[in-house]
Amino acid sequence: MTAASADSVRRGRFLQELGIGPVWVQRQRAVQTSPSVVPSPLPSGVPVRTPSALPPSEMPPVTMVAAPVNMKQEKAASAWDDVPVPVPVPVQAAAAAAPATTLLVAPIDDGAVAIASMSWQELDIAVANCTRCPLCRNRKQAVLGTGDPKAGWLFVGEGPGAVEDQQGEPFVGPAGKLLDSMLLALDLRRGENSYLANAVKCRPVDADGKDRPPSADESAACRPYLERQITLLKPAVIVALGKVAALSLLGGDPKIAVATLREHTHRYGSIPVVVTYHPAYLLRKPLDKAKSWRDLCLAAQAYANDGKLAV
Ligand code: SF4
Repeated sequence: MTAASADSVRRGRFLQELGIGPVWVQRQRAVQTSPSVVPSPLPSGVPVRTPSALPPSEMPPVTMVAAPVNMKQEKAASAWDDVPVPVPVPVQAAAAAAPATTLLVAPIDDGAVAIASMSWQELDIAVANCTRCPLCRNRKQAVLGTGDPKAGWLFVGEGPGAVEDQQGEPFVGPAGKLLDSMLLALDLRRGENSYLANAVKCRPVDADGKDRPPSADESAACRPYLERQITLLKPAVIVALGKVAALSLLGGDPKIAVATLREHTHRYGSIPVVVTYHPAYLLRKPLDKAKSWRDLCLAAQAYANDGKLAV
């Protein structure tokens, strides 16, 4: 048996473990057509109203503030007796007299600014001590992520569940086992050219103490950590597992279904993003594993097309 056929047999076993049978063979890479590439929506900017954009009727009067008088210059100017010497106006008084100009800009998130320059080690410490959202109250431990810090593949889920909260690692338990099988089908392993992370790093629980999806506010509060992870990793492709991960990476309408986002190559900056079902969903709906495998093939195609790209 050649190495190539042994590889094919091994992959067939993984696919069977996924429950989708050996008939699922990744096709030759097709020439990508433009309809399959859907640029991710641009982040909505906050309008900035500057004085120059105001209509003339609303323009504030210009306040002239004279520089302090230089005595030498004043003496030289005395030859010009008809030139009036400017009377200096105290700067503070001028500022108080000036009409207030309102600039509508988003408030600066100092925490996010600090996170944007953190190392892996600093991220670990920051997440473990983070209080940016209410999810910090119930966590046993925060779960930053796990894997190869130079991975070409990044898989993003929604948030830690009870077992992950206990163990401090994402994707453990039955859903994690299925994800491991999906990785193997792509010839990947946990920690080898793959990195696993979540949209939020602390476990969201409902009033009964059960796992729940994170809210939009919780995802937004935690997003700077995910953004920093992506910048440090510079993955060649990102697989968004479920709607929470997709919205955190791409934004968009919270009511949109995963089914609508699938089968397209989106973009996070220059990095291709493929959306598929979360492994926990696939455990509940095993018939959709077939669709998920198609998504993984699309991601493999994007990985092969794009190679390692800088963010
Ligand atoms: S979920 Fe994220 S933002 Fe919220 S407390 Fe945990 S680490 Fe901080």
